Order: sequence, then C-alpha cells, then structure tokens
Amino acid sequence: MKVVRFHAPGDVRISDAPEPTPGAGDVKIRVRNCSTCGTDVKISRFGHHHIVPPRVMGHEIAGEVVEVGQDVDGWAPGDRVQVIAAIPCGHCVECRRGFRTVCENQESMGYHYDGGFAEYLVVPAKVLAVDGLNRIPDGLDYAQASVAEPLACVLNGQQLARVGTGDDVVIIGSGPIGCLHVRLARARGAARVTLVELNPERLALAAALVAPDATVCAGDTDPVDAVRKLTDGRGADVVVTAAASGSAQEQAVQMAARQGRISLFGGLPKDNPTIRLDANLVHYRELTVVGANGSSPAHNAEALRLIASGAVPVADLITHRLPLDATLDAFDLVASGTAIKVTIEP
Ligand SMILES: [Zn+2]
Ligand SMILES: [Zn+2]
Repeated sequence: MKVVRFHAPGDVRISDAPEPTPGAGDVKIRVRNCSTCGTDVKISRFGHHHIVPPRVMGHEIAGEVVEVGQDVDGWAPGDRVQVIAAIPCGHCVECRRGFRTVCENQESMGYHYDGGFAEYLVVPAKVLAVDGLNRIPDGLDYAQASVAEPLACVLNGQQLARVGTGDDVVIIGSGPIGCLHVRLARARGAARVTLVELNPERLALAAALVAPDATVCAGDTDPVDAVRKLTDGRGADVVVTAAASGSAQEQAVQMAARQGRISLFGGLPKDNPTIRLDANLVHYRELTVVGANGSSPAHNAEALRLIASGAVPVADLITHRLPLDATLDAFDLVASGTAIKVTIEP
C-alpha cells in the first residue's frame, strides 16, 4: 500500500509499505478520507517531539472497517467509522476525573501510531478501549466525518469558554479552525459572531463561506477598537484566538467584556510563548482565560452528531479533495492560506 511518512523535518516521503495486520483488540480500516490541518504542515517542516520517525502522518481519519483482530466485539467489516486523534489512557488521575483532554499519558494517531495518510491503518486497541471509534451515521460521507476531529477540538474550546445563548463572540483567525468556531458558536446560540483576520484575502474566502455577522481585517483596522465599536463599548463575551499569535492573545484580553471569557485556542511557537497580560483587566473585569488541548473521545462523538444533524455544516468547508500522491501539494495548499479544508482521499 501507499503511505505518507515523516522521516525528518523537510523530509516527508510517499512510499510503499506492507499492509498492517491488526493484533488482538485492534481494528484495521481502509482509509477513505484523512483531512489535513496546520499541524501537518508544522510536523512536515519542524517535526514533533512525540514523533519517532519514520511515521505515517495524518490524524483526521475516516474509513471503512476491513478486518477485526481477536477479541474485538461490536465491529465488523463494512462498518463506516471515524477515529479519534488524541488517545487518553483512561486510568490516570485526570482521566478518572473526566479531564480526558489533559491526560498525562496521552498518545496520538499519526504521532505514536501510524496515521491516516495511507490506504490502510490499524486502529490500536487503546482507541477502542476509550470509545474512540465512532460509527458514521448513514447519509454522512467520509470527508465530512473526517472533520469531526477538528470540530471536537473546537467543541472542547467552546465548552471551556462557555459559549452560549446570547453571547457576543469574536473569533480571531479565519482558517479552518476559525471557520468551525464561527459555525459552532452559531449552533450554540451566540447572538453575534465577528470574524477577525489579518489577511484580507483569507478573510474574504472564509467570510463568503461562514457568513459572520461582522468582519474585521486586522491588517488595516485596530481589532480592539473595532470590536468595542461593534459592541457599543461593551466588548465581547467570548474571544477565541484561532491563530498562533501572541499579539492576537493580548488583543483578545483587551476586547473582552466584563465577565468575558478568552479562549487561547491556538498555541504559540515553542520558542516564543510569552505574552504581556494586563492582570488588572482580568481582576476588575472578572475575566476568565482558558486554554484548549485537543479533544476527548466524547467530544469526537458529539462533533460527529453535530455534523450529521446539520447543526454544524462542514461540507462546504471542504474546498479541496486530493489523492494520497498529492499529499505534499496539499500541505503547500494548507500553508498558502488559499484553501479552507483540504482532504486526502487515499
Ligand atoms: Zn488537525
Ligand atoms: Zn489518562
């Protein structure tokens, strides 16, 4: 079979590999869609401390069961499935308390285990043990199902930031994650959603698809001023930074309303993770600043339901479908910012 393997930073190869065999408790799937995201671009350029090469990349996975290992109950060839990316251990203190996104033993598909940029993959028993394999509802195609993984991460972020009915929500960053945040905020009852983005072309592309109530091009307008004006000086109830930008995070705190919640959704570069925070704004305005680290198996199941029910449409966000051979072009496309969701069809 063909696979896309990470060998070293800047060295990702499409090569032939033997088909994997499922061990006891494992399930083998024929990958139908594995979608790409900014993380894949980062891994291909810089590697990742959890990846020991060579490793098949890809973590937004949907496919069809073709073989089940010994002692696997409830799954059979022909089942259509979506696979979690982050695998919690299920037994550490955090997992037992229900904080599965911050499991200290977390492993991931495409990092510790071979991922979805391949014709076949083995879903490890560990994934099944934490309910990480989800049945794709009838009528939902594999490409849309593969978007359940990033949507699950977005759902975790909005739950932590308590996005709800009547909220004035600002999303900073209009990539695929920003677009999913706009859609989910609407589904959760936000009164108004404003999309902020530095690059005018990217903003126009995203806004044409997800139709926010307002847009702010941060390249030519001060986003803090703009959000204050849009909200009659109040600020936003929730601000989500879906961009790897320290200044966006600083602006997010400044544009939050009293009792506002700020989600630092996107991480910052490892070598530059420090921002300046006006602690008095947090203190007097009773702000809540939250992080977001991936998603739990339950978030994936819920995300798949949100997509299937139409509450969070994603079909139109999938702007490009490419074969496995073109995975490196897909990474370039993602990096260029001229696409929203790019999916690989192995
Ligand atoms: Zn991703
Ligand atoms: Zn754990």
